Amino acid sequence: MSTGEVPARDSTGPTEKCGVVGVSHETEGAALPTYYALYALQHRGQESAGIVTHDGFQQHEHIGMGLVGEAFDQGDIDTLHGQSGIGHVRYPTAGSVDESNAQPFTVSFEAGSLALSHNGNLVNTEALRSKLTEQGHAFSSDGDTEVIAHDLARNLLESDLVRAVKRTMERLHGSYALTVMHDDTVMGIRDPEGNRPLIIGELEDGYVIASESAAIDTLGGEVVRDVRPGELVVLDEDGSGFDAYQLQSPERTANCFFEYVYFARPDSVIDGELVYEVRRELGRKLYEEAGVETDVVMPVPDSGRAFASGYAEAAPDVEFAEGLMKNRYVGRTFIMPTQEARERAVRLKLNPIRSTVEDRSVTLIDDSIVRGTTSRQLVDLLREAGAESVHVRIGAPPITAPCYMGIDMADRDELIAAEGDVGAVEEQIGADSLAYISPSAVADSIGTARSDLCMGCVTGEYPYDIKGEATDRDVAAPVLDE
Ligand code: AMP
Repeated sequence: MSTGEVPARDSTGPTEKCGVVGVSHETEGAALPTYYALYALQHRGQESAGIVTHDGFQQHEHIGMGLVGEAFDQGDIDTLHGQSGIGHVRYPTAGSVDESNAQPFTVSFEAGSLALSHNGNLVNTEALRSKLTEQGHAFSSDGDTEVIAHDLARNLLESDLVRAVKRTMERLHGSYALTVMHDDTVMGIRDPEGNRPLIIGELEDGYVIASESAAIDTLGGEVVRDVRPGELVVLDEDGSGFDAYQLQSPERTANCFFEYVYFARPDSVIDGELVYEVRRELGRKLYEEAGVETDVVMPVPDSGRAFASGYAEAAPDVEFAEGLMKNRYVGRTFIMPTQEARERAVRLKLNPIRSTVEDRSVTLIDDSIVRGTTSRQLVDLLREAGAESVHVRIGAPPITAPCYMGIDMADRDELIAAEGDVGAVEEQIGADSLAYISPSAVADSIGTARSDLCMGCVTGEYPYDIKGEATDRDVAAPVLDE
């Protein structure tokens, strides 16, 4: 149920799906562990990478464009002094490469320095920005992270750290998993809906807060626990421990289901669930709900792999084989700016293995269909390679609406399933049959109540108050009265 006029998705600013990290170390510099953690989070953003450290006196920063390995060299790491640090990898919006939005975002003010790394997207940025502008703040970007930084800086002038964060949280509406550094104090903040993941780890001589547990594993650390929705976690400056403050207690969460389906690494554990196992369970349920008898089941590499292994496990007597080979040197097709480039990129990226496919009926499994470019091209490729029939099975429900919480899901007019008509999608991608998993199977596989998940991109009903869109709960943006 839509409520009329729909705003452009970028009206809330350019912050997108990203990876964040914060480190407080007892004995060593924070730069190197932060850098390695960013490597572990590279899948969450390839447009830019940045680290800001603090040595007890001042901040040091280095932000570069591209992958972590391109953005930093040894010399850059050597200049990042101090045992506290935060880092960020930024996810590209379709076609845009923009240095002004690279993070961490830094600001100096009377009460010290602040650095922020943000994953998610606020939906009340405009209202907050105009309120702060009225109060004399000047902004250099149109992003939401700068707005959070100014609001927090303003509150820090009047209150202690915990109270300042609480006040700022009361004014933010939307999705935010943040690592923040105030002078040399590193913090993690997770929005009250827990929309994006954020997790605490213990290192041999320090603590880390990161978007995903895979970053903690990479550092040889131990997972302590997830940052709870609505919680502030403050690491001790000497890296010896942390304090936690439950600043907001929502009745319901709104965890993003797409983290489990596509975005997070399969080896990460989010809110207690191993992503790989969730995907395999989705694959098993996909077979239960919409299994089809074919000679062979094959994944779209790499996104469909875990789903296909679960599906094949549930399907009796079916061959499970690789039918498509991936050229690992080609990046995500999604980030190509034009449709033509995206189509060519699919063929650059994937090539069929003829012997698996020729004269056989094939079930092709992927995580999701967004614009439909990948599936259409792959069905064509498999037919050209001699497949008798091609059945497509998808581990997410149809994506019918945009994401305002930081994933680039394309606009409604680009989404192949925007009308919610599976038959029409089947025809457009040229498959012999197409089936998607149900939303309830998604909730069951994640082990979370359907009402505690954000499925806005599936239902078009959101857990936040977004102008022109329907909500899935009783929710309103905060009134900004001071
Ligand atoms: P499409 O070709 O537009 O239908 O995109 C679907 C393919 O892109 C699937 O194979 C997914 O694994 C992948 N994908 C889905 N969502 C995203 C996203 N937000 N960003 C990048 N890739 C995505």
